[in-house]
Amino acid sequence: MSFEDIPVPIGPVYEGERIRAKQMYVELGGPKMEKHFELCRVISKKEIKDEQVTIHGIDLKDMEEGSTHPIGILVEVAGPELEVDLEAVFERRVHEFCNFVNGIMHLNQRYTNWLRISKTAVEKGFNSFQLLGAVLIRLYKAELPIIEQAQVTFYTNEKEIEKPYAIAVEVYEKRDERARTIHDEDVDMFYGCVLCQSFAPTHACCITPDRTSLCGSINWFDARAAAKVDPKGPLFEIPPGECLNELAGEYTGVNEMIKKRSLGEIDRIYLFSGMEFPHTSCGCFEAIDFYIPEVNGHGIVDRNYGDVAINGLPFSAMANQTGGGKQMPGFNGISIQYIVSPKYQQYDGKIQGLNEGIETVVWMNKGVKDRIGEFLPKDLLPKIATEEDVTDINALKQWLQDVNHPIVATWAEALAEEEEEEWEEEGAMVPMGTVGMTIPGVGGAGGFSIILKNCKVHAEAIIIKKIEPKGRKKK
Ligand code: SF4
Ligand code: ZN
Repeated sequence: MSFEDIPVPIGPVYEGERIRAKQMYVELGGPKMEKHFELCRVISKKEIKDEQVTIHGIDLKDMEEGSTHPIGILVEVAGPELEVDLEAVFERRVHEFCNFVNGIMHLNQRYTNWLRISKTAVEKGFNSFQLLGAVLIRLYKAELPIIEQAQVTFYTNEKEIEKPYAIAVEVYEKRDERARTIHDEDVDMFYGCVLCQSFAPTHACCITPDRTSLCGSINWFDARAAAKVDPKGPLFEIPPGECLNELAGEYTGVNEMIKKRSLGEIDRIYLFSGMEFPHTSCGCFEAIDFYIPEVNGHGIVDRNYGDVAINGLPFSAMANQTGGGKQMPGFNGISIQYIVSPKYQQYDGKIQGLNEGIETVVWMNKGVKDRIGEFLPKDLLPKIATEEDVTDINALKQWLQDVNHPIVATWAEALAEEEEEEWEEEGAMVPMGTVGMTIPGVGGAGGFSIILKNCKVHAEAIIIKKIEPKGRKKK
């Protein structure tokens, strides 16, 4: 495979390249655009025009510098061994292959895809979707030899994208609908994916029927099909082994997998908890499940939501906290599909006496609620607030009491536990041997230490107050 005719270098080494607003020539898709997508279809040899690239709408060279456009990328492939179940996994490779191009940054998937093309790439002559199409076709055939023919169509015009966008949404819905038909107890094999390790080296997805991959684009059926045709590829089997904790979804096989794939960094995962040993998150999660300590509940925000969530943070700030391959209790990258699983964060809910994990959810942005409402418990649905109901934590607290959300029943116990923790902290010794900083002179008694162990702090302001010595806990 040669890329000599392509004016910019191509290769995995360019994955992870960031293109900031200042450096970009154009932006395609992303949060500013309403309709955009990428889709892969398996079609017959007869229907395909091998290596054909078609552009509906204006080409890259005719786009104004600094502008934003819709983008639809339709990859159609053919080959005697191909099956429809492979479409989603092939589709996910659009992300990887676009990122191989020096001068393209590709983020997300399905209808949240987002590309930036750099000024430098366009100056070097990478100024047509014909070139990107040719690169994609060559990479698809080289990296996935079971693909014998491929054609690519780009849509960059608001009118022309409408029809293929509607078809794409229908295909995604069909895939999701099928994924809802099976559960973990129906299968004896799970699957893993390490496609995102170029961005998040300690991240590996564990894909089970109840836990669709956090990018939302690979469900258990898709992963099974991919692991079957290419067992040495980025998707692979995970024999679950022994179930150590059914409620948490802890399996010896999954723990071994994450230990190996994270190079020893992480050795334990609870598939169904966002609070204890949560699944790692890379960067392309569809949504974030975040803990709201003030109400002992959880919020869900998806990446299309442009405002701040109920905790005062926008998606982007929480995404920094959540992603990068970390295991971050309280911030968990999830797929939308996982929310409707009966096992959704069941550990977090049931250990507090709730019936289901979904009962921990007290707030979600309206976009998410509209999308999945029909699959959530009918009595719970109206009790989950959105940005239209409340906009700050105090109002949320009141709302939860007014609607008698199940989480309210956990408050007495959760608050008691919190007080106990505070009590312990008051009397706690400063850990020795940890890097800390001392601010001398405060209170005239040798100052105090702030110990920051392994943490990332985001604060609008820090207020340092002198604390008068207290006796026992206030009554
Ligand atoms: Fe694979 Fe997970 Fe990345 Fe999706 S998020 S591409 S399943 S590693
Ligand atoms: Zn990812």
